[in-house]
Amino acid sequence: MKDINVDALFLGPKSENQKFLKEMIEFMLDEHIFWRRDFHPEDKDAITLKEQRESGFQNTLEKTREVLLELSSKLKRSSEPWFSPRYLGQMNSDVLMPAVIAYMATILYNPNNCAYEGAPATTSLEIEVGKQLSKMMGYDPEKAWGHITSGGHVANFEGTWFMRNLKSAPNAIKQVKPELVKGLDDWQLMNLSTTKILDLLDETKKLGIFDEVRNHSVRGTGMTSGKLGKLLVPQTKHYSWTKVVDIMGIGSENFVNVQVTDKCRMDINHLKEEIDKLVEQKIPILGVVSVVGTTEEGAVDEVHEVVKLRKEYEKKGISFYYHIDAAYGGYARSIFLDKNDDFISYENIKPMLHESGAMQMDNDWPSRDIYEAYKAMSEADSITTDPHKMGYVPYQAGAIMAKDTRVKDLVSYFAAYVFAQGMTNENPVLLGSYIMEGSKAGATVAAVWASHKVLPLNISGYGRLIGRSQEVAQRFYKALSNEPEFTLENGKTYKAFTLTKPDFNMVNWTFNEVGNTSLKKMNDLTLKLFDKFQYVGGPVYSEDFLTSHTEFTLADYGKAPVHFLNKIGIDEKEFLNGTGVWIFRASLLTPFLNLEKDWDNYWATFMKTVKKTILEVD
Ligand SMILES: *Cc1c(COP(=O)(O)O)cnc(C)c1O
Repeated sequence: MKDINVDALFLGPKSENQKFLKEMIEFMLDEHIFWRRDFHPEDKDAITLKEQRESGFQNTLEKTREVLLELSSKLKRSSEPWFSPRYLGQMNSDVLMPAVIAYMATILYNPNNCAYEGAPATTSLEIEVGKQLSKMMGYDPEKAWGHITSGGHVANFEGTWFMRNLKSAPNAIKQVKPELVKGLDDWQLMNLSTTKILDLLDETKKLGIFDEVRNHSVRGTGMTSGKLGKLLVPQTKHYSWTKVVDIMGIGSENFVNVQVTDKCRMDINHLKEEIDKLVEQKIPILGVVSVVGTTEEGAVDEVHEVVKLRKEYEKKGISFYYHIDAAYGGYARSIFLDKNDDFISYENIKPMLHESGAMQMDNDWPSRDIYEAYKAMSEADSITTDPHKMGYVPYQAGAIMAKDTRVKDLVSYFAAYVFAQGMTNENPVLLGSYIMEGSKAGATVAAVWASHKVLPLNISGYGRLIGRSQEVAQRFYKALSNEPEFTLENGKTYKAFTLTKPDFNMVNWTFNEVGNTSLKKMNDLTLKLFDKFQYVGGPVYSEDFLTSHTEFTLADYGKAPVHFLNKIGIDEKEFLNGTGVWIFRASLLTPFLNLEKDWDNYWATFMKTVKKTILEVD
């Protein structure tokens, strides 16, 4: 299975693969040039050689050259070195060469995937990519629906769009054709399962009243506060959710933040309590959202527990839409799929990770609950995932997948279901009529497609790449946790503290002076250190390591961080009185740390830099 070499996929930290990149870009450019020339060779050149020698023409080229040089100097001076293993910040890394080349080549043709007419070449690639991603999530690709969005934001919007319109459909059916929902009271109408609602809507399609029903749903009547119930989201949610509830008209008062555990995962007991409270007051549940790979901690919510819970509630006549925000963590489901895309058994996962080369050394990742969470993702109604995060594809590429393709009829602005019946192929005529965006780059789709072709979405492809980064994160976490306290020339002794064992490839930590119990004092050290570990301006070459940071506040996280403070020996009172905890945060996407060869040296350099910097600031 060692047929993919990750090192051949990127330009590389030292531009090691520059020859191949240049060669392929030049080749693809030539292809395009000949393509133009070969279109009606009998047509004369529109730009003559004589004109090209004129001063105005030459001036224009000069001007372009100057502007591009200026751009290049700006880019080189102030870009962050994501390609380097010294970058320990946001979810960024080097991007895949297949993606970059595909993107650059396709941009010359400039397809617009809004409509088939604008993108005859790349529309089918988008449909193919949607199926591949649906399959990776465990959906039946023939029944599911997936496409590329501009990012996780828009994917979350679309998931909620499905959710909202779906929740309002049963009441709309009741208004248009009460017989179809005979015997169901209002509460029951607000608690039908996704499949049941979609089946009922199929009946309305047969009766020719689907459009009328849709006009009676929320998109015709608008949101009436509280009518559709509450949206339950963990405290660790991405900030896009705050925008979603605003723009979707759900309203912040219908947004329930569910408490997280000290592992930063949604607390299932709390979720259950919240649901019970709502049920008692006869308030419906619009939907529940889980996060797979939280943006600040990389935590993986226990999806399997939510799935179990929903099944239990459905027996009691309570149901809700279930969306997973896996913008960050979604691509890692590829780790759990064997070469035939079947979900690997828990007993086999670690040996297979090792054997496939996805993980080089012995490891204790994934734990059983992470495994079960990934496995159960196939039960969710829709899932967000970002190719521009763990897909190692350039911006902007997000994706939304829905388990049941019929949900798209609820958001469509022309009858997708009618067109789908009459079409000879599967290509949508006007993708733009049932997605949030309109004009969109076919080049992005080409980049995602080319990456999936080179790296299949299973353990033999993406799994190998992402497995590596998981292992780097586990290694980083262990090294920090085991790093002994150290005394510096200022006479003070310090120690590193890690937040939790990472569920995903993100590590959070702080340094504290041994004996210090003041949160404020620890925060001061973190912020002063961070100042030296962030890029603010000037030549980036002067940076040694770069990281990011985040703040956990009582308002956002409740008491979840108290456990961490206790571990460090910090007095929790300051936190409970409103002082946030500042913490370092590193998303470790780098494919370029060979743990067997490079790790010891890497770690020694990192700790040496840390010690030197602490001495400078404290
Ligand atoms: C990054 C992220 C998003 C937003 O994605 P964009 O691509 O930046 O729009 C949403 N949810 C989670 C969990 C994320 O990590």
